[in-house]
Formats: sequence, C-alpha cells, structure tokens
Amino acid sequence: MFVPRHLPCPDWARFLLFSALALLAPVVRADFDIVVEGRPTAVVCVAKGASSASPYAAKELVKYVKAMTGAELPVVADASGAGKGRNVILIGEKRDNLRRDEIVLGIDQDGRCLHLCGEGPRGGLYATYELLERWGVRFFGNQTEKIPTAKSLSLPDGFAFSYAPPFEFRKPGSIPLDQNMGPPWAVKLRVSRSYQNKNYGGAWDAVIGSGHSLGNKSFLDAKVHFAQHPEWYALVGGKRIPNGQLCLSNPEVRAELLKEVRAKAAGKKGVGGIKYISLSYLDNNRFCTCDGCRKIRKRWGDAPIGPALDIADFIAKEIEGDLPGFRISTLAYWDWREPPAKTPGSLHTNVYVTICQNGNKALPVARQKDLMERLRKWNAVAPGRLLIWDWDACFRNYLTPYPTYHLYAEDFRTYRKLGVRQVLSQLPHGAIFADFVEMRTYLYAKLAWNPDLDGEAMAREWIDYCCGSGAPQVWEYYQLVERAVWGNAPAHRNTQFKLHGYNPGRGWLTAKDRAEAFLLFEKALAATSDEPQAHAMVRRLGAGLLELVIEQYADVKKAMAHIRVPYGSARPELPPREELVDRFEQIGKDFYVWCFREGPQPRDFASLVKTLREGTRK
Ligand SMILES: [Zn+2]
Repeated sequence: MFVPRHLPCPDWARFLLFSALALLAPVVRADFDIVVEGRPTAVVCVAKGASSASPYAAKELVKYVKAMTGAELPVVADASGAGKGRNVILIGEKRDNLRRDEIVLGIDQDGRCLHLCGEGPRGGLYATYELLERWGVRFFGNQTEKIPTAKSLSLPDGFAFSYAPPFEFRKPGSIPLDQNMGPPWAVKLRVSRSYQNKNYGGAWDAVIGSGHSLGNKSFLDAKVHFAQHPEWYALVGGKRIPNGQLCLSNPEVRAELLKEVRAKAAGKKGVGGIKYISLSYLDNNRFCTCDGCRKIRKRWGDAPIGPALDIADFIAKEIEGDLPGFRISTLAYWDWREPPAKTPGSLHTNVYVTICQNGNKALPVARQKDLMERLRKWNAVAPGRLLIWDWDACFRNYLTPYPTYHLYAEDFRTYRKLGVRQVLSQLPHGAIFADFVEMRTYLYAKLAWNPDLDGEAMAREWIDYCCGSGAPQVWEYYQLVERAVWGNAPAHRNTQFKLHGYNPGRGWLTAKDRAEAFLLFEKALAATSDEPQAHAMVRRLGAGLLELVIEQYADVKKAMAHIRVPYGSARPELPPREELVDRFEQIGKDFYVWCFREGPQPRDFASLVKTLREGTRK
C-alpha cells in the first residue's frame, strides 16, 4: 500500500491523501474510475490533431498504470468506441489561449472523460506525467523511478487542474541528462531541451548560435575570415588579433553578421513562436580598442558590454521585418557583466540579456547585494527580458561536495519576482558520480517548474527512496553539509564561506566534519549491503567525500580519535589510506568514470587516483 510520506505542497497533499484513502477503502472511491480492483475501467484515446508526442503519452500512461496496478488500459482510436460504462482518458486535445507550457487536466461535465492536454508539442505528455506524479510516481533519475503499487486508481469527481510554469525555458544541463537515457528523463522532468525524436515533441531549433558566439564557428569565424579580413577582429596592443572579440564598429562586420544571421535563421520554426539568436562576446576580455569601438562604448556609458548591446540592437532592428518572432540574446558575463549607466536610447524590445550568476554560490541570490543590484539595473535596461545563466558545479572538481541545491527554490522565487524568462544552469557534466548530480538535476527541474514546492521535502523524498536503508545516514550527511556551510541556523543563511565555480571552497568542511561524514557513509554502505541499487547510489554519493578524506588523511584520522562514541562501544578507526584509495579507484571503474572536471583530458580520472595514491594532491 502506498502512503505518501513527504508531501510537496498542500494541493498535492489533499489529492494524494484522497488517493491513499481511495486505495485503502473502495467504498469512498471517487467517481472517475480508471482501474478498479486490478480491472481497467477506462480507455485511452489520442485526440484528433494532437501533437506527435501524444501517442507516446498514451503509451507512457498505459505502461505506468500497468506497472502500478497490473491492469492494461486499452488504447482506442475513437473515443466513441470506448464501450458502455467505460471512462475515456483523452490525450493531447488542442486548446486555445493557453500560456506557455501550460498543462490542463480535468474531467468534463458528464463525468466520463478525463482530458490531459496542454500548450506546445509536449502539452499532453506533460499533463500525463503530472497525473502519474499525483499518483505517487517519481522520476528520480534516468533509471531510478518510484512506482507505487495500487489495486485501484481513480480521480475525485469534478477533478480539474491547470498550471503554467513561471519560466518559458527551464534548462538544467547535467551528465544524467546527456546520457542515452537522458532524453526520456528530461521530458518527464519537463526540461526545455529540444530533441529530434517526435515522441519528445520533435526538434525546436530554438537557439541559433552558441553561448559565446561572435567570432567563433557560430558567427564570423576567425578561423575562416581572419587571414583575409584581419580588420574585422579586435585591435589589441596596436595589432589585429584572431583570438579576441570582433571589431563591432566595422560596417563590413555588421553587414556580414546580418548576412550570416539571416542565413542561419531562415526556416527555423522555434517552439511556441519563441526563437533566440545568441549574439555574445567570446569567453575572453580582449576587446577591440579601435577608435570606432571606443566611440560606441562611450555612447553606452563606457560599459565594456556597450558594443555587444549596440550590435544586438542593430541586428534586432534590421531583422524585425523579415524574421519576425526572433529574439536576440547577449551574455552579461565576467568583465562585461555590468549594465551600462546610460544608453543612447532604449534597447530594442527584442534584445534579451543573459545574466551570469557568478556570485557566492553558498548564499541565495536575494542575499547578494551586488548581484541583486545588477539584476535590478539590467531589468531597467531590458525590462522583463532577463535570462539567467547559472552554474551549480565546481568545474575544477565535480566530485567535491557542493551544497547549492538548498537554494534552488528560493532563487527561482527571486527570479520569478524579477520577471526572469529563462533559468539555465550548468550542473556537473562529465562525471556520473559528481556530487549528488541526479538529485541536483531532479530538484532543479521540479523547482524551475514550480518554485513554490518544498525543495527540502523533495530532497528528503529523493534520498529516502534512492538510498534505501542507508537513507537516514545520507540525510544526516545532507544536514551536516548544510550546517558546515551555514552554521547551525541554515534558515538565516549567513555564511562567510564562498562557493565558486572554480574554487572548491573546501575549507568549510573541517577534518571533524569529514570524519563524521565518513562514518555516516560507512554506516549507509553497511545498511545497504543487501540492496544493490541503493548500495551503488550510496557509493557514488560518498565518492567526493571519500576523496576529501584521502586528501587530508592524517587530519581526519586525528579528528576521528576525538569523536564521541557511546559508552562501551568501540572507537571507529579510519581504514588505511591505501585501502581508501583502492576503494575510490574501484568506484571509478564500476561507474565508468574517466574524468572529474571541466575540459576532460584522456585518463583524467586515472591521474587523479595517481596523485591521491602518491599523496601529492592538494
Ligand atoms: Zn573595433
């Protein structure tokens, strides 16, 4: 019998409680039956004219209902052939005037048809997953799903629900989403990634040009044009260079860029009428210093980002007539993150600014004065046209404990208040045993969809299921890390520790913390020795901590000697260093890990193991 333990929100709580009661006592069962005592009482039908993802949604519904109840719902081509006394679940019906990604679930007036539909190519599919989640199904990982069992499934009479997420695009990027099993999981999490596969709604062609785009293979590639047109590229130290920014004041550069934009954008449909062209500086600060570029910069309050805004504004105006519906985006990042103090006029309403969140990752956005100030100023320059580019990974070492996931819900609520359109985050790539990478991806996607959900309750639910009998210790570890960063009052979230994408900030985990955390994982490993899946998960979740213990072996050993143990119990001993390195190496082998940081090198993980073994890793 499935009884929900952690309820994401009051609405769900009411609903799940109802379902649980319905399962416990058939006499209070609701009016709209889907399965009764293991027998199907409804048929599934794909609406006429539904998007390509709707037949897939029907299959998914049938598959999960069967896994839950053993009953196979028939799929019919025509709802009128449902048969006497059978309810109909109609998927993917077209509805007008829906908000972006809005889902609609509801039983119609005669109480015989449940509609599962929504906006966009995935509307019916998203509505289907919403229904399954309401029945307690959880999509915790690309191969980890919680499917409760039930004899009967039903919905309360008159059931109706609709919801549209606050952000147009929700884009976490992480290794479990990039793997083979990534796309079906991304769709279940309602992540805005575009796929060729029609089951997932087909390709959207929503973004043209990479993040950094002006001067690489996206637009005006220096490798192609520099030899012939050095004057198109930055003048730095009196010389034109191929590895700096473009010379954006050069009329030829403007004409060529316009030509390339038109060629790349032609025929691209986009999703829901939204298409982006990224026109952003490359990832360096070698700006053009020619007189023309200096003049442009002056016009934009001498802000380094001035020439990029100027070119974005120019292209937006030029393509207004022939490429309707395209938005231009430009990155506000690093040395060019600040908004201009003055602008030559208002920025074209099709220019969007992508703000990179590069503050202290241990603090919520709302607590970071500089960042909030910058966001407010940008909102004045491009009102309601802000996109967020975030990262929640330590790029130098994806394994390192990096507790940023506590902040997702709060930060998304801040972004929603500011009218942000998109939240994109680089979660750990490369290493499958990166710090809590699946939980991070799950929480990011769920909270970007609805920032009012309880992030901590969802983390607890994730750990409870994925870590099996080791869950109590892993949860204790989760809290230990939280305390280590924020102190004993995480609600206040005052911390002196700075977590940054390139600075692991490991100082916040003391040798005593590491010793305690190590013992928690030892207990969780022992508790899951008969649960292969949970055991594998605990091994992966503890890998980053294990590496930190090996690095500071002597200190951790000393700290362990001072840990309080209950009277009469044996004092725990830290296993020999060599044994811990073996263990760490074996985790890498078992999970096919070959890199642990950004920009992986061949045999990257092997080199990490080598430095750990030699004791030379700092
Ligand atoms: Zn220039």
